[in-house]
Amino acid sequence: MANKSIAVLTSGGDAPGMNAAVRAVVRAGIYSGFDVYGVYKGYNGLLNGDVKKMDLRSVSDILSRGGTILYTARSKKFMQLEYQQQAAEFCRSLGIVGLVVIGGDGSFRGARALSNAGIPCVALPGTIDNDIACTDYTIGFDTAMNTAVEMIDKIRDTAQSHDRCSVVEVMGRHCGDIALETGIAVGATSIIVPEVEYDLEKDVISRIYEQKDTGKKHFIVIVAEGVGGSQEISHYIQHRTGIETRATILGHVQRGGSPSLRDRLMATTMGVAAVELLQKGNADGTVGNRVIGWRDGKIVDYDITEALEMPRKFNNHLYEVAMKVSI
Ligand code: ATP
Repeated sequence: MANKSIAVLTSGGDAPGMNAAVRAVVRAGIYSGFDVYGVYKGYNGLLNGDVKKMDLRSVSDILSRGGTILYTARSKKFMQLEYQQQAAEFCRSLGIVGLVVIGGDGSFRGARALSNAGIPCVALPGTIDNDIACTDYTIGFDTAMNTAVEMIDKIRDTAQSHDRCSVVEVMGRHCGDIALETGIAVGATSIIVPEVEYDLEKDVISRIYEQKDTGKKHFIVIVAEGVGGSQEISHYIQHRTGIETRATILGHVQRGGSPSLRDRLMATTMGVAAVELLQKGNADGTVGNRVIGWRDGKIVDYDITEALEMPRKFNNHLYEVAMKVSI
């Protein structure tokens, strides 16, 4: 009898570690007796028949590579019911009994839609922003922050040489986690995140003056992308303090690069967990429409709707830590 098949795709924004997750799904899938298909360009691959049967060596040498070998996409078509049904039909034609989707919460909605159309899906959190409520960690977060820290350390060298202030905008559209953790790691004077209301006078200018009074001459201000306006903040600081101030938007550099140990490890652990869930589903025919997460140091899984409805918690404790040391 032919093996049952599972498939894997990456969707939404790319994140370092996605390849490690793809590798884990392919290897654990084959280990568990499945045939495994790689689906190219997100959900589009299911609509265009853009899939390839993977073998153990199809995923060799990708563990350390950034981006995603399966490519990623945002598929407008897949938002419509008729195309979701078409994708499910295509999966059935290949004997695909489960799909692993690696992406952000938009991709989770896609996975829920496909589960509803009859193909059990398990979603993995893959996004640098760490903006997914049901998990303490998303694949790509650590690498993105390490890149940001490396860049900001370089910016600091030049800020220090010129007694300047540097305003650095890091990624995070709705979530200040990259800004917060990076800000602590580079010793920022101020960290501005979307989760905490800010006042430029109190939270930036006063802090600069206080630090200046104790002899500090160069300053780093970290702004999350979701707050934005780093150029305006920079002009304001220069105007109010007379300190030469430059703004840098780090941008897509944070998405690239070889994944860190943490991302390789999390991606591998989550990828294996996704296959285990699908395997369970294969035995009793029920498991699908699940999200894998990392909570309190353990792998967990939730129903996708339940996961999407969870409120995200900001790490207030870490914010207080930052406030106590950036004085
Ligand atoms: P990132 O966090 O990097 O933005 P994401 O996964 O949230 O990643 P989105 O662009 O929101 O990125 O979603 C990726 C894709 O998932 C969409 O292009 C679409 O194909 C699919 N998708 C999103 N929402 C839905 C939905 N409600 N129904 C079906 N498919 C969806």
